[in-house]
Amino acid sequence: MDKGIVYLVGAGPGDPKLITVKGLECIQKSDTIIYDRLVGDRMLSFARPDAELIYAGKSPERHTLGQEGINRLLVEKASSGKTVTRLKGGDPFVFGRGGEEAEALAEAGVPFEIVPGVTSAIAAAAYAGIPVTHRDFTSTFAVITGNEDPLKKDSNIDWAKISTGAGTLVFLMGMANLPHITRLLIENGRSPQTPAALVRWGTRPEQRTLVGTLADISAKAANEGFKNPALIIVGEVVSLREKLNWFEKRPLFGQRILVTRAREQASVLSAALEALGAEPLEFPTISVAEPEDFAPLDRSVKNLGRYKWVIFTSVNGVYSFFQRLRYHRKDLRELYGAKICAIGPKTKEALEEYGLIVDYVPEEFRAEEIVKVLQYKIAAEDRVLLPRADIARKALPEALAGMGAVVDEVTAYRTVAGEGQSGRVVEMLKNGEIDVITFTSSSTVRNFVNMLGVPDINNLLADVAVACIGPVTADTARGLGIEPGLVAEEYTIEGLVNAILKYFTE
Ligand code: SAH
Repeated sequence: MDKGIVYLVGAGPGDPKLITVKGLECIQKSDTIIYDRLVGDRMLSFARPDAELIYAGKSPERHTLGQEGINRLLVEKASSGKTVTRLKGGDPFVFGRGGEEAEALAEAGVPFEIVPGVTSAIAAAAYAGIPVTHRDFTSTFAVITGNEDPLKKDSNIDWAKISTGAGTLVFLMGMANLPHITRLLIENGRSPQTPAALVRWGTRPEQRTLVGTLADISAKAANEGFKNPALIIVGEVVSLREKLNWFEKRPLFGQRILVTRAREQASVLSAALEALGAEPLEFPTISVAEPEDFAPLDRSVKNLGRYKWVIFTSVNGVYSFFQRLRYHRKDLRELYGAKICAIGPKTKEALEEYGLIVDYVPEEFRAEEIVKVLQYKIAAEDRVLLPRADIARKALPEALAGMGAVVDEVTAYRTVAGEGQSGRVVEMLKNGEIDVITFTSSSTVRNFVNMLGVPDINNLLADVAVACIGPVTADTARGLGIEPGLVAEEYTIEGLVNAILKYFTE
C-alpha cells in the first residue's frame, strides 16, 4: 500500500480566494479533509466529490474529537494510505495548534508538509483598512492570544513589556476578555487614548468593524453585542482606517444574494455580484438533462441542409445542439446554407465559440422582438429550426408559423429541477439571512417555488428583494404570488446585476 501523507494547510481568513495555490491543490487532491470551525463551506466545495470530509471543530451538538483525538485520526488516516489535508483557519501555526499536530505526525513517522496560510491577524486588519505596520506610526507589531484566563497568577504574557513594547497589538480569541485586556494594557502604561478596533468575520461578506480607543472600545463592544470571531487591534495604525477602509465600501457589501441558475451557468452571475462586494449563494433550481427522445433533434441534425434559418434561444440550446452534431460525427459545415439567429448576446457568444458568425441578434431579447425583424427576412415556406428546451414558450414558434414559415421546434435539452438544499435556504430566509433572490428565467421561479414547497412563499419573501431578469420572468413570479422588487432593463445577466446595483445605490 502507498504511504499516506498529511498536509497541514492554512485555509486563510475567510475569503475563499485567500487560500494559497498550494493549499488549494492539497484540498483538490486529498482523500480525506479534516477541517475546523473557521473554515468556510466554499473552501470545502473544492474537495473531490468522493472525498471524506471530517469536522474536527468544537460544536455544541456534536461530539468533539479533542486534540488527542485529532492527532490520532491524522496518524490513522495517513497510515492507511490516505492523502489527508488538515485544514485550519488562517495560518496553521498561528494559534492553530498546528505545531502539536505536526509533532504527533513526526513522532508517528507519518510524512507531512506544512502549507502556511494568510493569517487573520494581518488579513482581517487589512480588509478593515488597517495596515499592521506603517512607517509614520510603527515598525513593530505583535500577535497575542486573548484567551488566557485573566485571573491566572503566572501569565505567559508579560503585560508590562508587551503593552508598550510593540506598536501594534493584535489579539486573537480575545472578545470574552476584552475588558480585562484593555484594562491591563492601560494599567501597564499604554495610553487610554490609543486607537483600537474590533474586526469580526474579517475578509468575509459579514465583516463588521468597530472603532474606538483603549478606554472606550470595551463598552462600545458590549453595547453593540460585538462577538467572536474577532480581532482586537490596538495601536496608532487604526487611525488609517478612515482613509483606507475599502472592503466595506464596495456597493453591494453585506448583501447575501441567492443565485438560482443551473450550476453550470451560475458562476458568471456569482462572480459579477461578488466583484461588487456581495456574497453570492448558489442554489441551483435547474439542471440540464438530455432529451427523453432524441429522434426529432436527430432528424434535424441529419437534414440541416434544408433550413433557411436556425434560431438559438439559449446557451444550453447551442451546447446541446453542437454536442449532438458531433455525436453524429458532423460539424459546422452542415450549416453552410442556413442563416443563424441568436436571441441574446450570451447565446451569440456561445455560437461564436464554435466559429460561427451570427446573422441576427434582436435588440430586445424576447421572442416577440425576434419576430418583428424576421418577418421581413423569412419568406413563406422557409424552413426554420428551433433547437431548444422542452418547456420553452410557444410564442416564437407560433409567430414564425404565422408568418408562413415551416417551423421545426425540437427538444435539444430538458430542464429538470435542481439539486439545491432547500431546507437550508428556507431556514436562512426565515432568519432574514438572504437579502436578494435572483431569477434568470421563468423556470427558475417555478422550480424555486416547487423546491421550497412552503405554503406562504409571499410571506417568507416579504423582506427579500426579488430580482428578475425581464418582464416575462417577473410575470411568472407574480403569477406564483411573488412580487418582484426589481426587473432588469436589459434582459441579460449584466442588466440584472446593474439593476441590483441601482437598487442598492440609489
Ligand atoms: N490560525 C488562525 C487563528 C486561529 S485562533 C489564523 O491564523 O488566523 C481563532 C481566532 O482567530 C478567533 O478567535 C479570532 O480572534 C481570529 N480570527 C480568525 N478568523 C478571523 C476572521 N475572519 N476575522 C476576525 N478574526 C478572526
